[in-house]
Amino acid sequence: MPEFFNVLAPDAAFDALKPMLAMSVGVDVVATADALGRVTAEDIVSPEDLPAFARSTMDGYSVRSRDTFGASEGLPAYLDLVGEVPMGEAAHARLGIGQAAKAYTGGMLAQDADAVVQVERTQMLDDTAIEALRAVAPGENVVQVGEDVRKGDIILLKGSVIRPQDIGGILALGITGVAVSRKPRVGIISTGDELVPPGAAVGAGRIRDINTYTISALTAEAGGIAMPLALVADEFEAQRNAALKGLAACDILVFSAGSSVSSRDLTADVINSLGEPGVIVHGISIKPGKPTVIGLADDKPIFGLPGNPVSAMVVFDLLVRPAIYYLAGCKRIPAPPTTRAALRRDIPSVAGREDFIPVRLRQSDDGASVAEPVFGKSNLIYTLVRSDGIVKVPMDRSGLYAGELVDVRLY
Ligand code: AMP
Ligand code: MG
Repeated sequence: MPEFFNVLAPDAAFDALKPMLAMSVGVDVVATADALGRVTAEDIVSPEDLPAFARSTMDGYSVRSRDTFGASEGLPAYLDLVGEVPMGEAAHARLGIGQAAKAYTGGMLAQDADAVVQVERTQMLDDTAIEALRAVAPGENVVQVGEDVRKGDIILLKGSVIRPQDIGGILALGITGVAVSRKPRVGIISTGDELVPPGAAVGAGRIRDINTYTISALTAEAGGIAMPLALVADEFEAQRNAALKGLAACDILVFSAGSSVSSRDLTADVINSLGEPGVIVHGISIKPGKPTVIGLADDKPIFGLPGNPVSAMVVFDLLVRPAIYYLAGCKRIPAPPTTRAALRRDIPSVAGREDFIPVRLRQSDDGASVAEPVFGKSNLIYTLVRSDGIVKVPMDRSGLYAGELVDVRLY
């Protein structure tokens, strides 16, 4: 029986891959508003102070704090009202000794004011006077100029993944366009004599191609552009031709299926035919997903994912997802969402490999999160459809016990 040589732990496999992921894919300039999930191609520096003017954090009255010194409910400070500073307008009111002006949350303070008394801490005497029922310190209830961010501060380092709050922060400074890495293009070649496109009639012994579509969707989630290239039979030349086209057009090439070591498995041979160094890893110590190939040709990373749809998704998550981020210049890859839950049942495993088990999440009667393993032959796509996340049994464990708290990687 053919053997896998050189089976590597997933971490070691990714480390072997990393040096090939150094190149950059180039830069796009996009509207900041459209930059969600993109990776910054340069440091973004603040062109101005934010806020640009001192702003009240309360509805109330801007005051000279020293005029409220010692004020209390029993001994309020009497203040003359000299007007208001309307929202969105410059402050015209100027305070003299013992004066106050109406202020709104987010609005400017009157000139010479240094604090705001919250409206709930005042009493209206008539149209021209109020009482402050407590003292305020200088700067109280005020956001100072540059308190959010200072002119010249780096607001996002090169290689950051842009989040919704980043879009808000960048636009707050008037930066309407940002330089980001071009989205890595991921070419997908689905192989197998048995496959038909999902829209075609399925003859006996045939199945519909799942992986082209799951891999495309995962690629989009990871910030890449999926380029489904071909559905090809288990024929060396056909696969090689598709791969050569893919290498010319894409940054990463992904084969689905044919990644094992039988005579029908051509991925490794095809990768070796594409150029140096060809295959660098064949076999990783995980289940499902052991028959995985990692290679390089034309300076581009190439992955041979197992055909089993569950394996293909698990291996994509471990290797291809981080590779997409790396090529986009992002070295701190956003951690996938996880949650802690107590296992509902034992998960048997074997030490020396990582096992990945789909789980469904439930609330127990006392409100705790419970993870119910979804067992089933690992090639059943519905084990994933019917689950909420996946649990890893670490390399050094021969199983996990019911009741144990585990991290569930959520989809
Ligand atoms: P292989 O990796 O070629 O040994 O394939 C393993 C299993 O995955 C076989 O049962 C294949 O029929 C199945 N398979 C291969 N490619 C796909 C695909 N694109 N979609 C769904 N199942 C697939
Ligand atoms: Mg096959």
